[in-house]
Amino acid sequence: MTSTFPDLPVVVIGAGPVGLAAAAQLAERHLPFLVLEAGDGPAAAVRDWGHVRLFSPWRYNIDPAAARLLEQAGWIRPDDTALPTGAQLAADYLQPLADLPDLKPHLRYAAKVAAVTRLGLDRVRSLGRENTPFLVRLADGEDILARAVIDASGTWSTPNVLGAAGIPAHGETAATAFVESALPDVLGRDRDRFAGRHTLVVGAGHSAANTLLALADLAEQAPGTTVTWAIRAGSPARTYGGESADALPARGALGSRLRDHVENGTITLLTGFSVDSLTADGDQMRVSGGEQTVSVDRIVAATGFRPDHTITGELRLDLDPILGSTRALAPLIDPNEHSCGTVPPHGVDELTHPEPGYYAIGVKSYGRAPTFLLATGYEQARSVVAALAGDWDAARDVQLDLPETGVCNSNPVDGALVTSGDEPAEQQSGACC
Ligand SMILES: Cc1cc2nc3c(=O)[nH]c(=O)nc-3n(C[C@H](O)[C@H](O)[C@H](O)COP(=O)(O)OP(=O)(O)OC[C@H]3O[C@@H](n4cnc5c(N)ncnc54)[C@H](O)[C@@H]3O)c2cc1C
Repeated sequence: MTSTFPDLPVVVIGAGPVGLAAAAQLAERHLPFLVLEAGDGPAAAVRDWGHVRLFSPWRYNIDPAAARLLEQAGWIRPDDTALPTGAQLAADYLQPLADLPDLKPHLRYAAKVAAVTRLGLDRVRSLGRENTPFLVRLADGEDILARAVIDASGTWSTPNVLGAAGIPAHGETAATAFVESALPDVLGRDRDRFAGRHTLVVGAGHSAANTLLALADLAEQAPGTTVTWAIRAGSPARTYGGESADALPARGALGSRLRDHVENGTITLLTGFSVDSLTADGDQMRVSGGEQTVSVDRIVAATGFRPDHTITGELRLDLDPILGSTRALAPLIDPNEHSCGTVPPHGVDELTHPEPGYYAIGVKSYGRAPTFLLATGYEQARSVVAALAGDWDAARDVQLDLPETGVCNSNPVDGALVTSGDEPAEQQSGACC
């Protein structure tokens, strides 16, 4: 246990880009804080997709408070216009940030948060709630007390299932040895699992497109590599995007390349395919969707991500019934209305739950909406930390510069436009990221 309330730290869950931005903001405001990270270093999720190139250039990927601290320590800022890979984002920005003397002593790795509650109070108990510290329990059983909790734990570790109904398809749980999460490193680390084999990619977002293009490249290098793509929609038009007319050139180029591979037969497209069951078929796995079936060696579930609210089950959260964000944020990020570049500025007011002092920020704050951008998360972190410091003027002065064809725009780089938005296309209108 740490010291007693009110000298307790603000606990930040997750040392991803947004959790570390919150740490930088907390350091600048001289508030005590502790970052708890499940991985064995900073940016564990980003490093997992380190082989993928971001679609937003450096200028949008660096938190201003983090930049100030880094520059004071002599850090050389990367070229604002360049598009880093996830690995470069981690190595050239997030690792140096985590290593700063202002942050390093306040970061704990291999510290997975298992639950957050109030000390001695379950969700039902009201008396004295606001004046009771948070109790943060780690997976190893250690309890840590906190004055506030900023949950920046992301969604990477809770991917959506293959089952079209949002629950595992029949046989999916038993088929885990055949199923890959989104964005395997097909041409690098994970090549052996795909070379010379038949892979089914399920999903209509840009992560599916990225994996399909990598598999198509692999098919040219490794004989016997076969690629099938299953989508729920009746047409891949939304995945192809606007192609040469797309406001986002890299997204358009990606769509065009994908269309070419489908049209020349490198990729076999199955439309109207809603996965409902997986059954063993000799050494392969048979995947069924309605009347259609396909037997494959590997399956890539590029079906998006969802937030894990189980760790906060004893807190009073007011979640939007559709997206799982706060209710106030939901209409601002609704993928039916907004692309990532049209999300309005928002901060502590939109992120507040009935549970005072608990805030989810970063990609987790968006729930299932695929429209999250780092720049948005950094502004969330700034606003929430300002509120925790009692600086409500700054907390409410939310600003965001996300021109629709600016932050999401990019030049094609190896055709590697990527996305965090892997919801089925029919749920993804307007989403660019
Ligand atoms: C392939 C890909 C490309 C993207 N490209 C862009 C882009 O170009 N531009 C852009 O603006 N956005 C992009 N995004 C979207 C978004 O910016 C990233 O998902 C970003 O990593 C989100 O940052 P985060 O800090 O909210 O979450 P994460 O980066 O997911 O970090 C969460 C951290 O919390 C840790 N954690 C999780 N659970 C626990 C726990 N229980 N206890 C302790 N620690 C925990 C994780 O290990 C992780 O380190 C991309 C996303 C993906 C997947």
